[in-house]
Amino acid sequence: MLDKAPNGKVSDLLNTLGKALAAGEVENAVDLFQTDCYWRDLVTFTWNIKTMEGKEQVRDMLKARLADTKPTNWKIADGEDASEADGITESWIQFETGVARGFGHMRLKDGRIWTLLTTMSELKGHEEPVGFDRPMGAKHGSERNRKTWKEEREAEVAELGYSRQPYCVIIGGGQGGIALGARLRQLNVPTIIIEKNERPGDSWRKRYKSLCLHDPVWYDHLPYLPFPRNWPVFSPKDKIGDWLEMYTKVMELNYWGSTECKKASYDEKSHEWTVVVQRDGREVVLKPKQLVLATGMSAKANMPKFEGMEIFKGDQHHSSQHPGPDKYKNKKAVVIGSNNSAHDICAALWEAGVDVTMVQRSTTHIVKSDSLMELGLASLYSEQAVQSGMTTAKADLIFASLPYKILHEFQIPVYNAIRERDAEFYKRLEKAGFLLDYGDDDSGLFMKYLRRGSGYYIDVGASELVANGSIKLKSGVDVKRLTEHSVILSDGTELPADLVVYATGYGSMNGWAADLISREVADKVGKVWGLGSATTKDPGPWEGEQRNMWKPTQQDALWFHGGNLHQSRHYSQFLSLQLKARMEGIPTPVYGLQKVNHLG
Ligand SMILES: Cc1cc2nc3c(=O)[nH]c(=O)nc-3n(C[C@H](O)[C@H](O)[C@H](O)COP(=O)(O)OP(=O)(O)OC[C@H]3O[C@@H](n4cnc5c(N)ncnc54)[C@H](O)[C@@H]3O)c2cc1C
Repeated sequence: MLDKAPNGKVSDLLNTLGKALAAGEVENAVDLFQTDCYWRDLVTFTWNIKTMEGKEQVRDMLKARLADTKPTNWKIADGEDASEADGITESWIQFETGVARGFGHMRLKDGRIWTLLTTMSELKGHEEPVGFDRPMGAKHGSERNRKTWKEEREAEVAELGYSRQPYCVIIGGGQGGIALGARLRQLNVPTIIIEKNERPGDSWRKRYKSLCLHDPVWYDHLPYLPFPRNWPVFSPKDKIGDWLEMYTKVMELNYWGSTECKKASYDEKSHEWTVVVQRDGREVVLKPKQLVLATGMSAKANMPKFEGMEIFKGDQHHSSQHPGPDKYKNKKAVVIGSNNSAHDICAALWEAGVDVTMVQRSTTHIVKSDSLMELGLASLYSEQAVQSGMTTAKADLIFASLPYKILHEFQIPVYNAIRERDAEFYKRLEKAGFLLDYGDDDSGLFMKYLRRGSGYYIDVGASELVANGSIKLKSGVDVKRLTEHSVILSDGTELPADLVVYATGYGSMNGWAADLISREVADKVGKVWGLGSATTKDPGPWEGEQRNMWKPTQQDALWFHGGNLHQSRHYSQFLSLQLKARMEGIPTPVYGLQKVNHLG
């Protein structure tokens, strides 16, 4: 029988918290928190994405935001029960603010709040038209010259961006721009998505031939329209491309393919952007109030400069430009780099009969895909999780409820277990000369992704080829120079080459702001991505949240959106609500706007 006692504990605490907050008694509210507490707020109190760490920061935020936020109706979420395990009581919660409805999660330790997550579900009076409020579609009755859905849609397509300006322009129509566009459509925020590729999904289609998603299907659903139950676990790139194209159409997005944004500038007086785009060979000038860069965190190629590149007679390109192995059969290839793209490309080249060498400069974290699925993701994102009642929305919120400051503490045991389980595999890789790491603090792949977005390979087979020597390996070396027909390494080795692939990663997304807006704005906004963890490629000071992602930046009306499919799905909710609130003139005073500590 379900133990109802945890419900009593949580309800009592929520009642006390609610009363203290309603009475403006900040100290009484702060007293309900543990000394080592974390309150992560996604837009409800702070109009920001922000984690308050410790009582001092909770106090400061409440003093600044409580009177304005007017939170009420704190309770255990409808239909949910609190639970207790290992001295922690946890519960889904709901509440309201003056302008919104909120949903959240709470963990209690020794009767006090240890972690609190508060997220905005919807703005009052601006709810999405779902369930009882879904659109009628048909217009019953009779009316002269009535327009069909198709005619109305065609009129919208013809007008928006020409005789009528969108409120929001999203630059970049990959999965990020598309997911955000879908949310904004439901919130009735007129939006145009600008994409230089011809069709939605092309950013996946154009990647190397062998690519399949590295993340499993349960992690990858788009908002509103989950993949069907027969969808493959790891979607091939062209299949996900087709899904995105279908999604864009059925979600009725205003998607301008074959359109490139050339430049954008912001008028601080009129609070309006001027966005110049090239569409069908013609220049079109858009005047939105909000501009979102969804141009991809894995899209601004880091192309190294090596002496001799200009005289090399073979093919050379960044991994993002690599067409696949077909024309290199029986040739010699050198792949510079040792992360995901390098491994995928090396394996595909080897399969096509190419003599391929991987050049590894520094250590890489490798985790076998099945180990990651079983030990890292299964409790939230797997068929077992679905069967035990876990929904995508709940999985996302549980993930979001673990504060970044202590997330590595949850991850280290997972990767220790993976190291033990796959000890033989790691031993064989090291024997082949591969330089391994498990993250600066042994916290593994997910922390590396959040901190620096690079430095790992999810093994789907290439590691075996490295271990058995099929993919040749030169490790602990750098490229010294290229000759007409070879790559010379820092240890003096000469590798004959018909093809050189630079799998050297991607730069910060604020590079896009520099290209499209100005260096000044890019510097004003600063580095995008990373937590400030003071680990490799993620310099401190500690920021507590992903820099500049999905939240207000130092540039008024400029936003960054993207990340993997999970992040695009989850955070597009909060970015869309921030944009909707601004469109409706709801005051959105931002608490704790991040300072800029690094330029790019
Ligand atoms: C090899 C590889 C494997 C990956 N595997 C996974 C995975 O398994 N799961 C996962 O979730 N993620 C994966 N990723 C990360 C992946 O890049 C992102 O998840 C995804 O592409 C991000 O989507 P996005 O919309 O933010 O960016 P993108 O898909 O990069 O889209 C950005 C778009 O902006 C457009 N654009 C840029 N500049 C302009 C301009 N000036 N005008 C108009 N359009 C412009 C580009 O054409 C592009 O289509 C992988 C990345 C790589 C490189």
